[in-house]
Amino acid sequence: MQFDLLLKGGRLIDPASGLDARRDLAIVNGRITAIDPDIPFERAARVIDATGSIVAPGLIDLHSHVYWGGTSLGVDADRLAAKGGTTTFIDAGSAGAGNFLGFRRHVIERSKVRILAYVNISFAGIFGFSQTVSVGECSDLRLCEPRETVAAVREHADVVVGVKVRSGRHAGGSSGIAPVDLALEAADQAGVPLMAHIDEPPPGRSEVLPRLRKGDILTHCFRPFPNAPVFASGAVRPDMRLARERGVIFDIGHGMGSFDFSVARAMLSEGLAPDVISSDVHLYCVDGPAFDILVCMSKLLALGMPLVEVLRAATQRPAEAIARPELGTLKVGAVGDIAVLRLRPGRFTFVDAVGASLVAEQRLVSDGIVVGGTWWPNEAANDFGDTERFEAHAHETHVDVVSRHFGRG
Ligand SMILES: [Zn+2]
Repeated sequence: MQFDLLLKGGRLIDPASGLDARRDLAIVNGRITAIDPDIPFERAARVIDATGSIVAPGLIDLHSHVYWGGTSLGVDADRLAAKGGTTTFIDAGSAGAGNFLGFRRHVIERSKVRILAYVNISFAGIFGFSQTVSVGECSDLRLCEPRETVAAVREHADVVVGVKVRSGRHAGGSSGIAPVDLALEAADQAGVPLMAHIDEPPPGRSEVLPRLRKGDILTHCFRPFPNAPVFASGAVRPDMRLARERGVIFDIGHGMGSFDFSVARAMLSEGLAPDVISSDVHLYCVDGPAFDILVCMSKLLALGMPLVEVLRAATQRPAEAIARPELGTLKVGAVGDIAVLRLRPGRFTFVDAVGASLVAEQRLVSDGIVVGGTWWPNEAANDFGDTERFEAHAHETHVDVVSRHFGRG
């Protein structure tokens, strides 16, 4: 058989199948067709030399915001994909029932990279979010309408993976726990999981967690005080253990303010590693502190999570969370979505959402990705320095941030 694309000489790590070995991997018609210790290069129309690199399933960023141009916080997924090793972006509720069709038509259907989405319980989606504007989409309960949400989930079932709710003082004002209950009712009726965000109380963690069902996702699981998953002593709160035992999925969702090294250390030391590592990348954290999923994964690696588990949390686990078993693995027959990564040695200073720093001697970088069988190199692969500091920009207006990324007008 003649192959379309051959990745040759890499260390293939597929956490889902347990394979970690030197393997060649070949693709035909967008599907993985062969995995073998030696596939001759003459048999492929195109060969990528993966010597010295890690060949992993394409990363699935379970929590991102990619409704570019339609919401103030959206980033352009195609611009971020190859650099971040990401082949699937899951948008976490940027759009609600009232503006989901625009997201689909103008962004999802036009993107080269794969995009799937949670529908926000709020009809308007996340409409008032920047570094200086914060009007929560759940602060007016008239916007939280389960019938509209269920209809949108059904209408766009091919790209929708669940319902999203942002509960907390920032996203919900004085609404308390009500948006969570409305979102749970919609998720139950539509037969899909719920992704619940928590920020500052109310509602408190102890109100949100017991409501979540097996397969529901708690995002911002390692957020800082208040509403942190650990006591000041570092002991894990009992409701976190109960949630894990019940099968609630813990997702990092780093973002602008939701990842704390000291909380992560406490959780990891008590055996509560995150199920999923996601970036919550949006316009106000793409220049730090989150940057992209690879930076977030590098932070967990620096905190002591083993490489295979870090990769599992960005491939197999998110694929399970969205019930898409054809993604997130490198089995023969699976979708040809691949990340070609590299562990780059150096001296890297990572900064969390509360300004604490952590020095690491390696970080994950991307050589490029394969999406649906097509090679997509990271054009910035040679720009990585070996001493870098990953910290956030100062406060700016929305127009400043957009201009830096996309130019004026
Ligand atoms: Zn988010």
